[in-house]
Amino acid sequence: MTDRPLLMIPGPIEVSPAVLAAAAAPPRSHVAADFIEDFGTALARMREVWLAAADAQPFVLAGSGTLAMEMAVANLIDRGDRAVIVNTGYFSDRMAEMVRRRGAAVSEVRAEPGAAPDLADVETALADGSAKALFATHVDTSTGVRVDARALAELARRHGVLSVFDGVCATAGERFSMAEWGADIYLTASQKAIGLPPGLALLVASQRALAARERLDAPPPLALDFREWAPIFAAYEARKPAYFATPATTLVAALRVGLDEILGGAAAGAGARAALERRFQRHERVARALRAAWAVLGLEALPKSEELAAHTLSALYFPAGVGPDLVGGIRARGVIVAGGLLPALKSRYFRVGHMGHVLERPEDLLRTVRAVAESLAACEHRCNPEAAVDAARRRLADGLADPRA
Ligand SMILES: *Cc1c(COP(=O)(O)O)cnc(C)c1O
Repeated sequence: MTDRPLLMIPGPIEVSPAVLAAAAAPPRSHVAADFIEDFGTALARMREVWLAAADAQPFVLAGSGTLAMEMAVANLIDRGDRAVIVNTGYFSDRMAEMVRRRGAAVSEVRAEPGAAPDLADVETALADGSAKALFATHVDTSTGVRVDARALAELARRHGVLSVFDGVCATAGERFSMAEWGADIYLTASQKAIGLPPGLALLVASQRALAARERLDAPPPLALDFREWAPIFAAYEARKPAYFATPATTLVAALRVGLDEILGGAAAGAGARAALERRFQRHERVARALRAAWAVLGLEALPKSEELAAHTLSALYFPAGVGPDLVGGIRARGVIVAGGLLPALKSRYFRVGHMGHVLERPEDLLRTVRAVAESLAACEHRCNPEAAVDAARRRLADGLADPRA
């Protein structure tokens, strides 16, 4: 037990000892043979984790998730295009603003906070055939709502529209099958469910997305251009040195380690798929165990139904008589959680991240439940902390008894 507080926000998150060791290593040259091997391997592993087609192109840039979003928009959208945004909160708003700044028209399909737009409304927005792309946030970190990415990707495909999914709070924590569902871009950042420190923007693009870049009238900014970067990553995968802009060599080495962990040490094929599936299931079980504890504490979730609730974070209303001070009380008990993010509700709720390495550490999950419960009790909210911890413990024991589960 250390005095270091436990980081339970929706990114950055606690990282595994192996990732930490890799991220703390001395920098390497971007053309060193051992770095080329790590980078080539990491790129191939991304296709496995994204469940992407063999001809899909992974991109790894120094930057955050916002940069990956910008890269997607800049390579698909021209002045005068039209895009449909499935808006579930703060990060959907950001994506819409990026599309507008490229000079495109935006049709937003919205729902009230905690809900997801109706598929029928999305279909209506696509019906006149003028949209070029559909953008959705897989898990919106401001509301904890997960959209039905499969249905949206299939809908876009049926209408001949490109589909882009912001997976920044989802990728490797929520099921997403890029090739099978026909999605065109799935993007994330290193500090969320991928389980690394912040610093890498990660994106995989389909052949259709790469072709859309080639048809643009106005090229994207050079530093974000698919056309500049794709040959660089192809070279690394062929174990050849290449240079366009210096990669974050230390973080890329950590990425290889993190992706290896996600795939259970299996390079590819059935073993890797099984490990990835176990990881999705583990996120589901942990989310259910924590939801049981929140229910015992009388906490109401922002997502309006269990079906919409993300497995990577909990967004919870403060109960009556309790306010944002709760977050400080939880911090004083050794656990860092996040406040609200959605402007309209910002001071009415808080968020707890539960993704990545911490899922292998039931004691840390229970410590989190205890810190939330005891802080609530200290705020004079009537609740039973022991019962909440027990509810989570029982469910974690059920679900996690099998070490491979
Ligand atoms: C965190 C997050 C982002 C932004 O990522 P940064 O790394 O902070 O730039 C975008 N979308 C979603 C869904 C996120 O959770």
